Amino acid sequence: MGICWSLLKPRSNEIPISSPSHTHNLPDDQRAYHPFSSKFDPQKPHADGSILGKGYVDLKATYHIGKELGRGQFGITYLCTEKATGLKYACKSISKRKLVTTKEMEDVRREIMLMQHLTGQPNIVEFKGAYEDEISVHLVMELCSGGELFDRITKRGSYSEKEAAKIGRQIVNVVHACHFMGVMHRDLKPENFLMVSQDEEAPLKATDLGLSVFIEQGKSYKEIVGSAYYVAPEVLRKRYGKEIDVWSAGVILYILLSGVPPFWAENERGIFAKILEGSLDLQSPPWPSISPSAKDLISKMLTKNPKKRITADKALEHPWLKEDGEASEQPMDSAVLIRMKQFRAMNKLKRLALKVIAENLEPTEEIKGLRQMFSNMDTDGSGSITYEELKAGLSKLGSRLVESEIQQLMDAADVDKNGTIDYIEFVTATMHRHKLEREENLYRAFQFFDKDDSGFITRDELKHAMTQYGMGDEATIDEVLDDVDTDKDGTINYEEFVTMMRKGTVETREHVEIQLGL
Ligand code: ADP
Repeated sequence: MGICWSLLKPRSNEIPISSPSHTHNLPDDQRAYHPFSSKFDPQKPHADGSILGKGYVDLKATYHIGKELGRGQFGITYLCTEKATGLKYACKSISKRKLVTTKEMEDVRREIMLMQHLTGQPNIVEFKGAYEDEISVHLVMELCSGGELFDRITKRGSYSEKEAAKIGRQIVNVVHACHFMGVMHRDLKPENFLMVSQDEEAPLKATDLGLSVFIEQGKSYKEIVGSAYYVAPEVLRKRYGKEIDVWSAGVILYILLSGVPPFWAENERGIFAKILEGSLDLQSPPWPSISPSAKDLISKMLTKNPKKRITADKALEHPWLKEDGEASEQPMDSAVLIRMKQFRAMNKLKRLALKVIAENLEPTEEIKGLRQMFSNMDTDGSGSITYEELKAGLSKLGSRLVESEIQQLMDAADVDKNGTIDYIEFVTATMHRHKLEREENLYRAFQFFDKDDSGFITRDELKHAMTQYGMGDEATIDEVLDDVDTDKDGTINYEEFVTMMRKGTVETREHVEIQLGL
């Protein structure tokens, strides 16, 4: 199946809204409120000037502090071992120097309180204790040594709907547990889920409650928080409640099944526009091969009207999500395979134009990922992928393609028809389209064909370029012109060229395919 790889891995693709993973932007009217403690006054500093108001302790007396596990905006998380028991934990240390305003201090206090409140829920990280010394506040919690959820999936390459449902269930479980306990999470996104251990069966845990709040009955929240892709439409309209968490979980589920985010654009504004417009694509590939039951659940979770949206507890009872439910065990296609199939469906000029563009691309991180993947497939290191290597590589990704389908992919990717796929051909066929289809790239590709700079690609120019790549036969030229030259003047103008290059991409959302970042 297609995982939205780099959306999940290199953070460059992620567009957080303001300060995504901490509570800094909480306005005054959304201060923590503890339903069970009327005495709690988060604004009040402690008399001793400390953050937690329970005196300073020397963490090192109780724990041995080990290697760094990760870094967030406010703290560094270390591996730590309890000396008395030898048990391992994670310790998030927040430097007090960074906690300048009263509100920042409140935010830390609230995060601790929420962790304490939610500990014991199966898919939420277990809280061990909070400590303070002169320098830092330390939050000791359950160690999740299995890494991030999506890294795990990316490594595996492929999985079934059943496995997706198992992950989805744990995510919806978090929403259910939070809501049940009177908490709105507000920042559900793939990076906030860690696996407890390296074990295949290891459970998932939500780790970051930095933006969560205790729900006040009847209150309508208005502050915009979360990360762009996952944010619910009513958050953008500044009038929301706990239903936003179901939406975010629905977005994660959509990505799990299709490899792409449901609402995508190049920038934050565009993403928001898509979210507000709210049209959900459950028709383009790979959706036709996904079960109706999965689509039913997704559309219920991504219902625009929060009042009509399915609740977390109802979602857990949905036939697709519930244990031993309808989700099938059939493996789904990998992102690479999906892209290769899309590439196969393009006309030859388009494939050639994409190759010209790929040849001229700057070596970005994403291209480096594909380079890595190319060399993994090119097992004999010859610099080109043979039919056998493609077959072996795709099967490692979990594909169950039959020989004839692999042959078709091979033929499509092998633009110059020399019997093997070279590196550029591989990048061309597997790279996500939105990069390749940027205006400047399209213009450069057009200029490559339009040798005399007349603004038209003539039949001769087309023939010349295609011959260079071993496909200049009359039949192919006729086929391309027939397809692309819509005004039938015998040449291809820039508009026709751009239409061809973008055709299929808007409706099929190829352009939102996210690059495989290995
Ligand atoms: P932020 O709140 O800014 O998103 P955190 O400080 O919560 O970031 O976490 C930063 C990183 O620390 C995480 O990406 C993860 O790699 C690591 N981390 C956090 N909590 C745990 C944990 N319980 N077990 C293992 N690693 C953790």
